[in-house]
Amino acid sequence: MLLTVCTIMPQHVVCQGCGHILYDGAELKPPDEIINEHGGKCPKCDRKLLLIPTDVDVRPASK
Ligand SMILES: [Zn+2]
Repeated sequence: MLLTVCTIMPQHVVCQGCGHILYDGAELKPPDEIINEHGGKCPKCDRKLLLIPTDVDVRPASK
């Protein structure tokens, strides 16, 4: 088994609505900057983008 170990941590920002990758890169960017680049909404599902603090994993809304 061959595992590739990356020393850099790519940042993944994924739309919580549809899973569309909004940003994928090695350079860490502030989430609000990424959101601004997309005009504040997902280009795919048109869902309004919210700031996601640290974890970008998709989670169902709790309320
Ligand atoms: Zn989306």
